[in-house]
Order: sequence, then structure tokens, then C-alpha cells
Amino acid sequence: MNLSEKPYRGRLAPSPTGYLHLGHARTFWMARERARANGGTLILRNDDIDSTRFKLEFVSQMIEDLRWFGFEWQEGPDCGGAFGPYSQSERRSFYVAALEKLRAGGFIYPCTCSRKDIRDAASAPNAGDDEGPMYPGTCREKRKAESGKQKFSWRFRVPDGEIISFTDGNFGVQQFLAGKNFGDFVVWRHDDVPAYQFACVVDDAAMDITEVVRGADLLVSTARQLLLYRALKLAPPNFFHCALVLDEKGQRLAKRHDALSLRALRERGETPEALRRDWAQ
Ligand SMILES: [Zn+2]
Repeated sequence: MNLSEKPYRGRLAPSPTGYLHLGHARTFWMARERARANGGTLILRNDDIDSTRFKLEFVSQMIEDLRWFGFEWQEGPDCGGAFGPYSQSERRSFYVAALEKLRAGGFIYPCTCSRKDIRDAASAPNAGDDEGPMYPGTCREKRKAESGKQKFSWRFRVPDGEIISFTDGNFGVQQFLAGKNFGDFVVWRHDDVPAYQFACVVDDAAMDITEVVRGADLLVSTARQLLLYRALKLAPPNFFHCALVLDEKGQRLAKRHDALSLRALRERGETPEALRRDWAQ
């Protein structure tokens, strides 16, 4: 079935690592608008995979803040649905199965490098996102962990020289060169937690998401995710990236958690309608 013929399913996927802030809300609002415009379903997924940063009290606050702001969803951790569970912390078996697929297909290798190893060895510049310096390929030829005791991560081997191309719903045609714009990336961390982008691919596919709406800082990451979809033999969703909101100093709004958290804005007497006034759509 062609993606465009499938009923639209979008998602809000906040991580409960702090209060939701206005930068998140704006991207989520776009996701809401896209789902409404397409007569689709919107799901709420609790992206709490990163258990070291996750705090239980933030989940209920997150849901409360989203509701206050005017968000509605048809499936989620609070209301259930046919594609649950809707919290990543309860979906480990999905990630383990997908990791096994990648391993059986020879797409990943164990990497014992520390952050410092990579920093010291890297000659290439940062990929331009949160991944840090480009991985120099130190462990590429390893097939299995050579030392039983040493901690390792699983890293995806990218096809050097291949152009990964996709048409973004907002920014149009995007192209990234594997091995140049981004290198081999971690899918499973050395602390035995799936990497965030890997978990997202597994969940978006399992939950039949047809369009992912998110911030433009993740454009490069979409190229990585498309490689994961291909390796896992899964159909990728469409992508719609939103321009990031910058403050008057050119800093990303997302970095200013405290002053612009929905909670703080609400306590200062702001209304959702006023906060949304200048947004497109
Ligand atoms: Zn390594």
C-alpha cells in the first residue's frame, strides 16, 4: 500500500526529562495541525527510554501540561490503544528483537571506544547535531566483542559514499553523504540502553506512524534512520521537519528550559491562545 493511501497517523513523542517548554510545544503543535489537516490519528508516546534521566513525576506533569496547552490524542499511555504499550520503558522486547535483526544481517559491530577515544581519534568535524564528532571507524572490523568483560556499544556501519536522499514535507529534497556528513552511529549504548533514534525507528514502524513531525535539528538524523529502516526491512514514514525557534540572541529556544517551560508560563498567567498567537497555521 502506498503511504499516501494509509490513514494518517502522527505522534507526539516527548521525553519526560524535564518540564515541557515552548520550543517543544511549537513542534508538537505542528504535529497536531498536520494530523488534523489530514483527518488522522494522533498518538502520545512517552519516550522515557533514557532511564538515567527519566523522572517519574515528570510523566504526569507532562500529560497535564500538554492537556492544558490544548493537545488531544487518541492513543497514549494514559488512554491505551491498539499499538501499546505507549511508554518506551515498556517496549524493550521490541528493541531487542530489532537489534537481533541488525546483528544477524551484519549491519552492526561492537564498539569499545570511549567518548575520549573518539574525540582523540576523530579528524572529521562534528556531524552538525548532537552525535558529537564523527566516528573514525576504529572498531569497524570487529564482529563480536573481543573481551567478554569490556563494555561495548553496538554501532551501525554506514555505506560510505552513498547519498541518502529524502523529500522532507517542509524543506523539500534533502541529501546527506554517508561517511562524510555522518559516520557509523550507536544503536545500542554501552550501558545496555537502546539509542534514542533507534528506539524511535522501531516504535514509529510498530505503531504504523505515517508522518514524523520534528525539529530541523534532526534532519541529519533522518538519514541515519532511513538506513535503519532499510536494514530492518521496514517502510519508513514521511518526515516533516520544523524550523527551530530562536530567541533574540540566536540561541535555540529548546535550551532555555526554565523561563519558557509551559508550567512557568502558566504560573505567570499566560494562556495557550496567547502563546500560540504568532504561530503559523
Ligand atoms: Zn570503537
